[in-house]
Amino acid sequence: MSVSVGIDLGTTYSAVAVMDSETMQPRLVPNREGDKITPSVIQFTEKGLIFGREAEDAFNAGEPDCAASFKRSMGRPEAYCVIDGKPYTAVELSALLLAHLKEAAEQELGDKIRDAVITVPAYFYSTEREATVAAAGKAGLKVKKIIDEPNAAAMAYGLNHWRENANILVYDLGGGTFDVTLSHMNGNGEIQTVVTRGDHFLGGRDWDDRMEKLLRDKFEAETGLAFSEDEEAGRTIRGLAEGVKKQLSSMQSVMVKTSFAGYGYAAVRVTREEFEESTSDLTERTGALCRAILEEAGLRWRDITDILLVGGSTRMPQVAAYLMRLYGKRPIAHVNPDEAVALGAAIQSTKENSGYSQLSVTVRSGKKETDRESLLSNMHLAVKPSRRLEGVGVMRLKETTAHAMGMIAVSEDGSRYINDVIIPANHVRPVKAAKAFSFYTKRRGENEMEIFVLQGDKENPLDNQIPFRYVVTGLSYNSGTLGRSIIRVQYSYDDNGIINVEARQDESRTNLPIRREPVPEDMSKYGLPIEQAGAVPEPLNVVMAIDVSGSMHGAPLVEAKKAMCGFVNNLDLSYTRVAVMAVSDNVQTVCALTDDAELCREKINSILCGQTGFGNMGHPFRAIEELLEREEGRLFAVVLADGVWNDQQTAVEAARRCNERGIETAAIGFGGADQQFLRNISSEDANAMFVAQSELARAFGSIAQSLGCGGAEGVMGVNDIDTWEG
Ligand code: AMP
Repeated sequence: MSVSVGIDLGTTYSAVAVMDSETMQPRLVPNREGDKITPSVIQFTEKGLIFGREAEDAFNAGEPDCAASFKRSMGRPEAYCVIDGKPYTAVELSALLLAHLKEAAEQELGDKIRDAVITVPAYFYSTEREATVAAAGKAGLKVKKIIDEPNAAAMAYGLNHWRENANILVYDLGGGTFDVTLSHMNGNGEIQTVVTRGDHFLGGRDWDDRMEKLLRDKFEAETGLAFSEDEEAGRTIRGLAEGVKKQLSSMQSVMVKTSFAGYGYAAVRVTREEFEESTSDLTERTGALCRAILEEAGLRWRDITDILLVGGSTRMPQVAAYLMRLYGKRPIAHVNPDEAVALGAAIQSTKENSGYSQLSVTVRSGKKETDRESLLSNMHLAVKPSRRLEGVGVMRLKETTAHAMGMIAVSEDGSRYINDVIIPANHVRPVKAAKAFSFYTKRRGENEMEIFVLQGDKENPLDNQIPFRYVVTGLSYNSGTLGRSIIRVQYSYDDNGIINVEARQDESRTNLPIRREPVPEDMSKYGLPIEQAGAVPEPLNVVMAIDVSGSMHGAPLVEAKKAMCGFVNNLDLSYTRVAVMAVSDNVQTVCALTDDAELCREKINSILCGQTGFGNMGHPFRAIEELLEREEGRLFAVVLADGVWNDQQTAVEAARRCNERGIETAAIGFGGADQQFLRNISSEDANAMFVAQSELARAFGSIAQSLGCGGAEGVMGVNDIDTWEG
């Protein structure tokens, strides 16, 4: 037999809970010392590892080889600390702690623990969630699900205080972060997160800092010492701050006594009132976030059924008092703020995961319309009185994405990089959304596509979290479309809020291999205008071959030369090179590949009728192939003809070979040209144009335009958004 547990893997404290099969209520599993919560601290000693309260005492006493607060570095690849010359990452430290918690709970329960539901802060990014799963795996635990801490707290509360159509605000103020989540309890036992927001730079530590300042000012006034230059005195005061803060949660004032080198014993009194006054702006900041959430959900304070307090810092009386002023009612802490999260995780550990929801998003010109479930529509219904749910089986949790998911894309006007949001924040997870890109693959060499996924909805890509660089590999050259392919990329948030990226080419039903790499250190170019960022378009090599047989004599040749010069003027020669050939009975390269427009126009104007013979015995495709064969980038040939070539079969075969080698061909014909032949020598029907002599310039113009808007590698054009059944 094995049991499933819920684990709150906290920054400061951790706890393990299990469902009691008799009472069908969750309960905390005491650790070896008999405590319900275990400080998340490890000490490495010669005799082995020490965990929990003993390690915390050692840490507070400044003993060496202790690791604490490592959860803050979850997901970072670098070592969190080095102990005895050995580096430890946050994942490794968390794995040691989890293994300890598992072992202690197994001993207490007399059963093996295999599966666990582990809680994480709602704001945790995908990499941090993955790291949590990895740590559990190393500790021998199978993660049944990762759930968000506020949701776990809401479940623990909901189990015994179920209210239908109730809006619960979970106010979670921990040691380093503040999170506020609006959850909705509906009529059928479902808890759904509606909106969640967080301030990751606001938490108990900020209150500690204020206490430190208060103590410093008081001790300076008392002793006449200046602590700014006295490091040791500064350390002494810092060491006192958190303890005094905690004492003021249950006392109106505290006498703080200590001694300073060179002065001796000193004592000052700090009152709760003084402390609250000096921290009122911090409490206000939490209120601002609560108001923002209400606004987002379209609710007022009176629409909130209950405020649930979670996190150690909500023990400060000022929190409840402040919320009472805003809300008009006392917030509730029916569940112990340190315990609620683990209890909720234990409830969830008896449940199964749900399936994916498909997100169909239409993205056009940066506007997003989503078919996100209308969560808010049923929020104003009457709240039924509190009751106990008939068993945990009735309760289901629907979690949402705290962060939007986007990718780095080029803005519509091509001037800068933007975050193209694919999945909005606060969408029910798991969720999938796919996007189609028009992509140009090269005939030779490795074909890869780079994707930077973003977490967040800030427009500047660099203002968001960038978890990884994804490289889609194995893209094949599609000769039928001369390299132009549709690449479909599917992005998803799984049940645990972890990102997954898959890609397919054209109509294929199989996924392409994807390599996941660390984000390059220098990403600054994505914050710069694109020209500065050096997003060099793919090189373009174009050959123009003009028929100079006898039938071109006079006006046709004059018009053709004008159109060709106009074509050269239209090209962006910063990345394009042009060559010119004359063709009739023979072929002659009049101008080799060049980016010198003047030279090219000069060579065009020097072309003479009949310079390679007056008949139509030849064709230019072999010469085109030879000229372009060793060139990189996009290869293109335009052939201008006014008559019917003698050996059409050979010309068509040579044109096809060019196409197979990645050279796109276009044909412009006028006068007596054969339309079917023009199509046969063109790489696609759209590239064959039959026009009047007066329209030659327009025909060349349209080819220049189509060359100018070709999708270049690395600069992806987003066509549309869709989903694919996976
Ligand atoms: P958590 O991250 O939820 O474990 O919360 C840890 C934070 O709660 C730390 O900043 C502690 O200083 C703070 N805390 C714990 N107990 C109290 C208390 N009695 N009064 C004030 N703050 C507390």
